[in-house]
Amino acid sequence: MELFRLGISEALHLLDKGEISSRDILDSVFSRIEALDDRVGAFISLARDQAYDRMEYLKVSEERGLLSGIPLAIKDNICIKGIETTCASKMLKGFIPPYESSVTERLLQDGYILLGKTNLDEFAMGSSTENSGCFVTHNPWDLDRVPGGSSGGSAAAVAADECLGALGSDTGGSIRQPAAFCGVVGFKPTYGRVSRYGLVAFASSLDQIGPITKNVRDAALLLNVISGHDPRDSTSVSLEVPDFTAGLDREIRGLKIGVPKEYFIEGLDPEVEQGIKDAIGVLERLGAEIVEVSLPHTGYAVATYYILATSEASSNLARFDGVKYGFRADGKDLIDMYMETRAQGFGPEVKRRIMLGTYALSAGYYDAYYKKAQQVRTLIKLDFEEAFKKVDVIVTPTTPTAAFRIGDKVSDPLQMYLSDIFTISINLAGVPALSSPCGYTSEGLPVGLQVIGKHFDEETVLRVSHAYEQSTDWHTKRPGL
Ligand code: GLN
Repeated sequence: MELFRLGISEALHLLDKGEISSRDILDSVFSRIEALDDRVGAFISLARDQAYDRMEYLKVSEERGLLSGIPLAIKDNICIKGIETTCASKMLKGFIPPYESSVTERLLQDGYILLGKTNLDEFAMGSSTENSGCFVTHNPWDLDRVPGGSSGGSAAAVAADECLGALGSDTGGSIRQPAAFCGVVGFKPTYGRVSRYGLVAFASSLDQIGPITKNVRDAALLLNVISGHDPRDSTSVSLEVPDFTAGLDREIRGLKIGVPKEYFIEGLDPEVEQGIKDAIGVLERLGAEIVEVSLPHTGYAVATYYILATSEASSNLARFDGVKYGFRADGKDLIDMYMETRAQGFGPEVKRRIMLGTYALSAGYYDAYYKKAQQVRTLIKLDFEEAFKKVDVIVTPTTPTAAFRIGDKVSDPLQMYLSDIFTISINLAGVPALSSPCGYTSEGLPVGLQVIGKHFDEETVLRVSHAYEQSTDWHTKRPGL
């Protein structure tokens, strides 16, 4: 058996029965990475020695957790104590966090093994992983195409079976869009469900960490481990965390599923549209009632997001000045050192965003841009609240097209920004949404179905996505690498 093919739940089952050991899994996954990763480019760094040490430690320790012996990949904007965290930026080269993020601390308590850190668009700003300051990650389904972004390394690693599952982060689509492009499951939880402590901040009111996995059950399992209140993140909520795997097998008969007309627009690729329509047909056959809904402010989402996200980024990234973290350039005095460090340390997209955000926040423009965008954000959130009075979940395409070619959109930031048109509103509203595979284009590229839920109702999102997954076989397909 090719153990690297396993998902988390299957692996746990086999480990439990004693049919395989966690050393077998590690051997298999590391040999897979060795064989493939110079072509895929999913990992920025590997933690091979630490992984084997940890496996040996777990063997003799009494500790048993939900993920005992399971190797995972972590996006390189999540801090792990003692391991370089770069955010794929020259700015953080050599930054070794002296502390552990809350999500990886929880994974450790549950017995996971870190495989390595995955590539991303620099500071999670981008939709293709081409903005990485390290290298470009390739889509395992077609190596000439992008894996999506910004969690492109995590999604590609899962799709290429270079790990059993991964964590990503999602500010405007960075878990779901790459999951859709790579034919895997990506889940952005409700804002506040998962602690952001130790996640390098991009736009703090939008950022959320979530799982990228081979199937819906695995996403539920990882969410069980990483969710819950954390005193170190005041925006994490103190709601009880349900067992997200418990309700997966409940049928969806009688559930009301909304389809927003604003998501079926010009620019939506006909093959993607067909994939979504077929998926809606499957949900209907499973007994769900399909209801047309309206999210009237959808057209403002991209503009609103690019004011708010860049404003927050301009503030969050002010801390990178050559003093406390990573890279430092020479300068003739302190101010000059700050300026040289930022000029040399940040890549072009990060600089563009810092400038846009600084502009939107500046005196004289604040009311016209930042304040207005906050008001529109509220309208977008109210759209969802209105729609959720009528339906239990909403389904949409995750992306308007399948994965595009490497290089196709790099010279046109607006085109790149538009590839998140269906994911961004969800972050502005703070609701949970999951992307799972729902078919392939004629060129063999995956298409993603997005299921959106009410605030803190991850359970229904998972239940609908799981019911859909189990009545199709898209999730069993693998790229022919
Ligand atoms: N692609 C979007 C952006 O560039 C979203 C990124 C993200 O979710 N981190 O901002």
